[in-house]
Amino acid sequence: MAKSSVKAADLDHRRKINFNISKYNAVVPQGKKQFIDVDSVRMKAKNIKWRAIETLDRQLEDFEKHFSQRGGKVIWAETVEDARQAIGNICKKKNCRSVVKSKSMATEEIHLNEFLASEGIESVETDLGEYIQQLDGEPPYHIVTPAMHKSKEDVARLFADKLNTAPGLSPEELTLVAREKLRGKYTAAEVGITGANFILADTGSIALTENEGNARLSCAWPKTHIVLVGIEKVIPSLHDLALFWPLLSTFGTGQQITVYNTIVSGPRQNAETDGPDEMYVILLDNGRTNILQHPKSRESLYCIRCGACLNACPVYKNIGGHSYGTTYSGPIGSVITPHLKEMDEWKHLSYASSLCGNCTEVCAVKINLHELLLDNRHEAVSSGSAGFAERMAWKVWKNASLSRALFNAGNGKLKSFVINKLFKGWSRHRANLDFPAKTFNQQWKEKLAKRQ
Ligand code: SF4
Repeated sequence: MAKSSVKAADLDHRRKINFNISKYNAVVPQGKKQFIDVDSVRMKAKNIKWRAIETLDRQLEDFEKHFSQRGGKVIWAETVEDARQAIGNICKKKNCRSVVKSKSMATEEIHLNEFLASEGIESVETDLGEYIQQLDGEPPYHIVTPAMHKSKEDVARLFADKLNTAPGLSPEELTLVAREKLRGKYTAAEVGITGANFILADTGSIALTENEGNARLSCAWPKTHIVLVGIEKVIPSLHDLALFWPLLSTFGTGQQITVYNTIVSGPRQNAETDGPDEMYVILLDNGRTNILQHPKSRESLYCIRCGACLNACPVYKNIGGHSYGTTYSGPIGSVITPHLKEMDEWKHLSYASSLCGNCTEVCAVKINLHELLLDNRHEAVSSGSAGFAERMAWKVWKNASLSRALFNAGNGKLKSFVINKLFKGWSRHRANLDFPAKTFNQQWKEKLAKRQ
């Protein structure tokens, strides 16, 4: 709450994020033109994800069967601890001193870099945005564009400070510096760690989509490849990628198709010249089955992490990604975090919404995000998570709103006094509410009288 108040008043932050989101807004409509009927495409994607999630157990078992047939190993991780332990054990077995990793929100979820550092293993982010964030000691700000809140001048200053580069380098020069620093890391690392954009049940493969080629290098160079991925990323068939890849790139960045699209179906086979000797896929639950049990919130598991709802959200655009204090920010983060963690501790996120519905409007797979936010609020209240003062305040508000007589009772000054005292949380961060001297009924009657 304190962080969001500070960010909401930070005009420089707002200028940078609005500038970056405006670039996104300019290209997405162009990307959408590749679809004859973009709404049907979204609906079809939603239906495929519905089928995948309704049959999640079978889809995952199919994936395991097919992936194992090509020599891959699947590890089921119920908790953060399970996932960390599995990665730690593999690294130990491989005498691993350094890891190259590509962008993955699942690895953020288990705070993998901190864990590896505690094991004495260097973990290097190879996605440029993540590399910038790692240099700055910050988590990603956005699920698609991790350094979205930084201007090119900020990045040039950061590189000069941390890497001793000349001040004021251009974006092209900065990219070359990062490339230079990273190339050697790929060949030195014993283990490469990636996420997966999709898990393909029918072929037992993972699908990666990226713009820099760093994920491909992270899984091709090191002798061991570990994939950490949430169980909800499964889609039934390789053929579904023909729909999901362009959909994700258009809604994520406005591109018709992302630059590098890779399907990995296991470790290097006998007749193949490159690829890792061993490949592991760790299927992460970490609260996702709580969502699966929930008849309404289950829909949030359809998310393909395109980030469109973050870019469209008026709250996100003001408080930014870090204020949420969670791995997943924006509307989708507010929907899933109370279920992935504790409703009591994270229910406040469901109020980080104006309920304008813009998130639902733009969602690539038509998730009813604003209704799920309302549903979280409902669940928080009915499970007793809402405090006494909050419950009383809303009760008074509801009763007054349903009764014209109560609404008209008292003058504007009295109402302003009562409301501003009752909703202290509101006035702590905003100007007081100021009711007009006359009620709506009085003003209406006077207006009619003047007309006659
Ligand atoms: S909820 Fe929808 S819009 Fe938001 S990241 Fe997921 S797929 Fe994209």
